[in-house]
Amino acid sequence: MKDTSKHQGLRNQLVKLLEEKGITDKNVLEAINKIPRHMFLDSGFEQYAYQDKAFPIGAGQTISQPYTVAFQSQLLEVKKEHKILEIGTGSGYQTAVLCRMGAKVFSVERQLELFKKTSRFLPTLGLNPKKFVFGDGYKGLPEDAPFDSIIVTAGAPFIPNPLMAQLKIGGRLVIPLGDKNQVMTLLVRASETKFVKQEFGEFRFVPLLEDKN
Ligand code: SAH
Repeated sequence: MKDTSKHQGLRNQLVKLLEEKGITDKNVLEAINKIPRHMFLDSGFEQYAYQDKAFPIGAGQTISQPYTVAFQSQLLEVKKEHKILEIGTGSGYQTAVLCRMGAKVFSVERQLELFKKTSRFLPTLGLNPKKFVFGDGYKGLPEDAPFDSIIVTAGAPFIPNPLMAQLKIGGRLVIPLGDKNQVMTLLVRASETKFVKQEFGEFRFVPLLEDKN
């Protein structure tokens, strides 16, 4: 699949829309402007790639809506060289945005099919996360902790303790919480024992599932 000036034009429009919807982080907008989202979708959906919508990516999963990706990325307050743990690699689009922003990304996926497909695909775009892991995101990644921030890209019924434990002091955990709809939740680690919570409205995600390995 090629990236053409037509695709670039559609990305410019998408970025404008995201700005209108309230996204202000220039680095987030710049990354979305550069990542060829159409390459993350099956070819049948290519024409919809730059609409602000979620789409099926196989294995019953979805690529998150661009606004959701932008919103979560903005909440992370990404700095270059930040170590970021992502739970739910999926298509790798969110992973790509964080890599493009200069973060060192560690991404965990529990669906073998998606893990294989995405860990092969992203490097072909010149985007190289630090680590792709096939495993259960509820456990985080203790061997690579602590992280500057953690992003969960599936709806979680509760905040997994290991994720809180693997956050640096001052670090940020962005996690959609809830059953049917999810409340976007930010947890900032103020000290060893203190976490400050903020909530940011409703979103819709596929569920964060318990381990089946
Ligand atoms: N950021 C992805 C979102 C994919 S949907 C994208 O934009 O494409 C959420 C993903 O989380 C799915 O791929 C799903 O398989 C994965 N997932 C669900 N439960 C998980 C768990 N316990 N550990 C790791 N990944 C999980």
